[in-house]
Amino acid sequence: MTVAKRLYELQQIDLDIQAKQEALDEISHQLGESASLNEARLQLIATEEHLAALTKQQREVEWELDDLGNNIGQLSEKLYAGKIKNPKELLGLEHEVGTLRSMLKQREDKLLDLMSEVEVVQRKVVHEKEHLQKLELEWQQEQKILAQRQAEVSGQLVGLRQGRQALVSGITPEALGLYEGMRSRKAQVVVRVEQGMCQGCRLTLPMSEWQRAKAGNLVQCSSCGRILYLG
Ligand SMILES: [Zn+2]
Repeated sequence: MTVAKRLYELQQIDLDIQAKQEALDEISHQLGESASLNEARLQLIATEEHLAALTKQQREVEWELDDLGNNIGQLSEKLYAGKIKNPKELLGLEHEVGTLRSMLKQREDKLLDLMSEVEVVQRKVVHEKEHLQKLELEWQQEQKILAQRQAEVSGQLVGLRQGRQALVSGITPEALGLYEGMRSRKAQVVVRVEQGMCQGCRLTLPMSEWQRAKAGNLVQCSSCGRILYLG
């Protein structure tokens, strides 16, 4: 095997390692907490808090109604018991009962509004819980697949690195140094020659270069500097 062929194969492995490494990085980025899941959790907490506040408000209005009902009952009893004879006092009492009744009506309307609002928010809580459960299930499945893929790609990387080591042991330090020095600047440093043309810069090679490469020497393209591989 010529040095150029070994370097070409090394480059294939290095490109493959790079791609697998990028895939692994992407996987580890996707593993763990999910933004949409967190958002759904926070939304549910907010809606549950809203529901709790409305329910509390509803209870308070119910107590107020109870109190108003009791007060009206007591005053009405007093009013109709016939014990109060003073017309001015009677009138005042009637007025008081009237005021309490209109307050009662107002609180009853408020209670009805609150009850329908509670119903709406209760439905919202149910809906958001279902949505969160669905997201959690999807997330768990996704995490499982990602973990499998991570193990798979890691295994492939181990194999590629072993292959690389074996290949490198057959390459002289000079050739390897040249390759690695160039690889730090460019992705493709070993290129095929097709129909006498360097596939890196698309220029036709001088005959002498082509002949030296053909003879198995390590030759760099005189115009772009890439290592030439005749295939
Ligand atoms: Zn070239």
